[in-house]
Amino acid sequence: MALIHDGNTAVLCVAGSKVSVGQMAFLIRRTSGIVCVAITSERAKGLDLSPQAILPFDPMRPVFTESVDAAVGVTTGISAADRVATVKVLASPEGRPRDLAEPGHVFPVVVHPNGVLGRAKHAEASWDLVALAGCGDGAVFATVMNDDGSVSDRTSWSKLAAEFAFPTLSITEVVKERLIGHLELEEVETTSVEIRGVRLRAQVFETATGEGVLLRYGDANGYGEVFVHRTCTVGDILGSDGCSCHEELHASIDRIIEIGAGTLVQLPSGTVGGCGRLGDQDLSGSSNFQAAG
Ligand SMILES: [Zn+2]
Repeated sequence: MALIHDGNTAVLCVAGSKVSVGQMAFLIRRTSGIVCVAITSERAKGLDLSPQAILPFDPMRPVFTESVDAAVGVTTGISAADRVATVKVLASPEGRPRDLAEPGHVFPVVVHPNGVLGRAKHAEASWDLVALAGCGDGAVFATVMNDDGSVSDRTSWSKLAAEFAFPTLSITEVVKERLIGHLELEEVETTSVEIRGVRLRAQVFETATGEGVLLRYGDANGYGEVFVHRTCTVGDILGSDGCSCHEELHASIDRIIEIGAGTLVQLPSGTVGGCGRLGDQDLSGSSNFQAAG
């Protein structure tokens, strides 16, 4: 089990193919109890699960399907054992529509085709982490909560992670991990761009809120030092004093040029106005994450 956070809220995440009844019981006790399973659209289609409309539409909100229970081998569907049985159907390549009943107590979420690079949110980060670990399609995740019913903040989920020695990753770290040669990026277009007299390769890719850009310099095979930046219209373009996005963006590009090998992942903000930070100050632009390749 791992903890994935965006700097503010966190989810507990475990591979659907591996989750035990004990882990599910823990998950139900320490989270909202809304147990979600991140799956691909192909898996959803194979199980006859249709994504629900998001109203009002927001490309950054998770895409839920109808809730489900396993059709056989469960009682009410709500116990930890029953929910594990349901998750196993969702996570198994052998799962068929007749193996599920609707509505139920487990909530499938369809991830963006480009995973966390397409939508940098908890569902996609959970799915990517499980896939990167070689545990297949289907990541169980649920939002960490406090005993008083409030959503855990950094202080309280950090305590939980420390108490149970859960590996802790930010969504930004999962984005970076995705780039280290594990999964192929679906490119729309490759071009080059000249910045401060240096020519960098720009690979455009699809995200939920528009096109993202992978700006690469130096080593053609590796990614060098990796920076993740989410577009902030007021900061990046207008140079607002209200945030440090503009400085962070240019500091990242300067650093890549200075060391001669690096990658900047530019993700769209999804909003016109606000600050586009990934909500993770210590990882937003200055972390040193060396590529293996
Ligand atoms: Zn900003």
